[in-house]
Amino acid sequence: MTGRIQCIYCQEDKAVSAYEKVEHVIPQSFGKFRDNFTLKQLVCDSCNQFFGNSLELALARDTLEGQSRSDFGVKKPEDFKSPGPQSRIRIKIVEGEFKEAYAFLNYSEVDQKITLQPIPQVGFRQRDLGELKYFLLDQIPDKKQLEESGFILQGPKSIRAIGLGVEEVSKRLAEKGISFQCEDEVVSANESQSLLAETQATIDKTIFRATAKIAFNYLAYWEGGDFVRQSSFDQIRNFVRYSVQAPYPLVKVSQRPILADEGTRRRVGHLVTIAWATDRVSIVAQVSLLNLFNYSICLSRNYESERRRVVRGHFFNTHNGEILELGTN
Ligand SMILES: [Zn+2]
Repeated sequence: MTGRIQCIYCQEDKAVSAYEKVEHVIPQSFGKFRDNFTLKQLVCDSCNQFFGNSLELALARDTLEGQSRSDFGVKKPEDFKSPGPQSRIRIKIVEGEFKEAYAFLNYSEVDQKITLQPIPQVGFRQRDLGELKYFLLDQIPDKKQLEESGFILQGPKSIRAIGLGVEEVSKRLAEKGISFQCEDEVVSANESQSLLAETQATIDKTIFRATAKIAFNYLAYWEGGDFVRQSSFDQIRNFVRYSVQAPYPLVKVSQRPILADEGTRRRVGHLVTIAWATDRVSIVAQVSLLNLFNYSICLSRNYESERRRVVRGHFFNTHNGEILELGTN
């Protein structure tokens, strides 16, 4: 038995040699901090690697927080990596020539900054409104459905393709029974960075698990391995590690500020707090990356073991790399 350690996530007993990597409470992709909070010999290397390759990668590249890192100086614009057209973040242009078209953010070598770039899509003109409505390539309805919904499929400029060539458009539309003629348009839409756009981000289970991991890591950092290995934390650990959903919501997201003195203007940095819930038997955490959204995480519901204070919070200043303890009230 000696020299073996139970991982706080997969709960397997492993030799000390399986714990060589250091798990960071705040993923390193969100900044480096002085006297950083890290877990040693608590998270096994295979869990650490799994988190890095899946949860943390999605959190860094495919969330509004992750994509905001270059705005707040956490990352250089040229290091911006877009998840591409399949992104959880969908941007819709709301004015001008490309009104209603979909775009995504990516780093432009030419402009040396992050710009809006078009997702390959096809627009059809609506008979009544005269406007184009765009469909991503895998969402184009067939001819019959389009006609029934009042789209014009013939005549000049009734169809516009963005981000793909004539041959490709013709082929795609032929599959749907629609013929694409030369008087229809194929445009490349590249000068779009100054356009007004509307952003929609999908915050899915993967993102919830990534934020829940930050909260559970933080608890483990302060309360230690024995405390977080208790079965009272099995729901949250299995959710983070194996995507097992509890019979109640484990993570909720809101835009409520965590700090009592903040409204719409907020300090730039990350926040993590832990407290007893108002029911006095559940332990809840709040996590906010770059102080944008507030993820509320239920770490334990109806906690029944040894009572501890557990209440604390920290502010991770991404500007100067300092970690500040928060006062509680
Ligand atoms: Zn593990």
